[in-house]
Amino acid sequence: MSWNFDYDICAIIFISTLIIYYGYRKCLPLTYNKLFQWLMVSSVLVAVTDVVGSVVAVQGKSVSISLIYIINITYYIVLTFTPMIFGSYVAAIIKKPIRESRYLMNYVFAIPGIIVMAIAITTPMTGALFSVDTDHIFHYGNWRISIFIETMFYLVTSGIQVIKYRAKVKKVIRYSIYIYILTTAAGHVCQMFYTPYVQTVSLSATIGLLIMFLAYQNPDYDRDRKTGMYRENGIRKIINEDRLYGKNRPVAGIAFDNYEHIRAVYGEETANEVVQNVAKYLQVTFPENDKFYVHKGRVIAFFDGNIETLRFFRNTITERCKMPFEFKGGDVYLSPVFIFTLEDIKVESFEEFKASMTIAFQRAIEQGKGCVIRLTEEMHQEAIRGIKIDRALKKALSEDSLLVYYQPIYDTIEKRMASAEALVRIHDEELGMIYPDEFIWRAEENGSILSLGEQVFRKVCAFINQHNMEEMGLSFIEINLSPLQCIRKQLALEFEKIIEEYNIDPKYLNLEITETSTGDIDVIRENMNQLSKKGVGFALDDYGTGYSNLVNVMGLPLDIIKIDKSLVWSFFNEGSELLYSVIETFIKGDFKLVMEGVETKEMADKLAEMGCHYEQGFYYSKPIPEEDFVSFVKEYNK
Ligand code: C2E
Ligand code: CA
Ligand code: CA
Repeated sequence: MSWNFDYDICAIIFISTLIIYYGYRKCLPLTYNKLFQWLMVSSVLVAVTDVVGSVVAVQGKSVSISLIYIINITYYIVLTFTPMIFGSYVAAIIKKPIRESRYLMNYVFAIPGIIVMAIAITTPMTGALFSVDTDHIFHYGNWRISIFIETMFYLVTSGIQVIKYRAKVKKVIRYSIYIYILTTAAGHVCQMFYTPYVQTVSLSATIGLLIMFLAYQNPDYDRDRKTGMYRENGIRKIINEDRLYGKNRPVAGIAFDNYEHIRAVYGEETANEVVQNVAKYLQVTFPENDKFYVHKGRVIAFFDGNIETLRFFRNTITERCKMPFEFKGGDVYLSPVFIFTLEDIKVESFEEFKASMTIAFQRAIEQGKGCVIRLTEEMHQEAIRGIKIDRALKKALSEDSLLVYYQPIYDTIEKRMASAEALVRIHDEELGMIYPDEFIWRAEENGSILSLGEQVFRKVCAFINQHNMEEMGLSFIEINLSPLQCIRKQLALEFEKIIEEYNIDPKYLNLEITETSTGDIDVIRENMNQLSKKGVGFALDDYGTGYSNLVNVMGLPLDIIKIDKSLVWSFFNEGSELLYSVIETFIKGDFKLVMEGVETKEMADKLAEMGCHYEQGFYYSKPIPEEDFVSFVKEYNK
């Protein structure tokens, strides 16, 4: 009888290549990655011991019987061990690592493997798996099927687990695991029942391993192309796993407070190139630490939690940053800032981690060059609140439950409430009332400001539709527009449609834009002109806060200028004369003025005397819900 181990040789070549690549590229420190490595190693050992066993088998009496036993028992032990590793691997993939589940289950899970190993070890006495006769010839034993059963046990239970937890496992991972199970099972069936002397087991497992590798186990999939570091999503995977063990890792981060500046001055491409050079430097200087590229030149790394290590990081990097980083055609100096967190802050999820890190990075960048910011519980809580606000915002948007409050605006000439500003709020069960200062910028950052703006606009249109504006003595309602809405080409068209839908006269609408939105001026002017032709009015909001670009502003169809409360207050509190000239300029320019932040009778009287047409502020009323506003106006204008 001759043994055919060609398949084994193939398997050894394939898997060894994978193992070398895997080790060389380094993968995320996750349990399933480690187990995958083990699975590859034990698969190679199966093939190697099989080859050695086969070679020895044909040597006849030149090899001692005990050596034949030792080699074959080793083979059967690794053969038994491999499916056990696979079972643990699958458990780790579905985030139920074996050692995490109840101890009894661990034992139960290991029992089939342990039994078969015991059978293998005692085989010289029992001849269960195989025997070697006096001519040194190898014979299969009757219990050989136990290996087959053991393997099938682990393959089948793993398959069932994956099916059971399929919602937790990505499709590509699930299908690759199924393929591994099927090919491995096929190999074992062949070897057991059809071709006992052709070693099909290793090669069939190799096919499965190769597919898993190509589909998702390639360590490069977790790496950021630009920097070669791990992608931020890798932290998500690690944190998800850490949660299972209640573990918190110390993390250090680096950012550059002049990154945005560099990007603005030299452009995106150069900024990327500089980041690449920084990444290269960090990889070479700190090869041991797992580094993750966040974005905007920010890098996060795990470290040992020792303050000395941190000091070393900082000093080394600071020293390096005394020299410029190169890019094609020049070089720039980078100004590093550092953040870190130790085990004391318990982050419950990646979302929390990311939000906390973002806050720490922001603080560090605000403080600037060289500073080191430790994540505090306060920042962590702020991050948690931010997450809750994001959720409340999302919910309010999808349920159409944004609240619109109205703050009356007083007409100093007609001496009545002539208008109101619509101000958005969110009511959340847990957080209570949430004010726009906390969520407008978030909505602008995550893009939901457009639907927020539309919802507010619709609600105001509905209000106008449902009330007799003339009878109430109201001339118009003011609505805030975000700069992101203003630079949207379709804005005018969309608003016109909504106005038609609610069948209202556009003259009752006045849209507030801010000076900061005067960026893409052509689109804004286009939108404004189009709506203005229909009769919609426009106000310039928060005058006196941003950098005024009055040349731009003057060309726009504006009716009203709203003077920000800070300017009004500085006039009353500090006696600043600026307000006089501002008022004079705008009145000359034929604009009407709304003074914001009017809190006292004295202010109200003085401003009216100075020629301001409208006044808005707590002196008259805070922003109030729709019904309250209606009764307030009816009462006031009676
Ligand atoms: P804003 O446009 O300057 O709105 C006036 C803010 O000043 C309101 O704050 C109002 O409650 C407050 N205020 C009014 N009178 C007084 C006063 O006498 N004293 C003091 N201390 N404060 C006064 P609110 O409602 O928190 O809104 C904050 C900002 O959020 C608004 O500032 C506006 O920029 C933005 N916002 C509100 N609603 C919307 C919206 O629907 N869309 C957009 N894009 N932004 C909105
Ligand atoms: Ca406003
Ligand atoms: Ca304002």
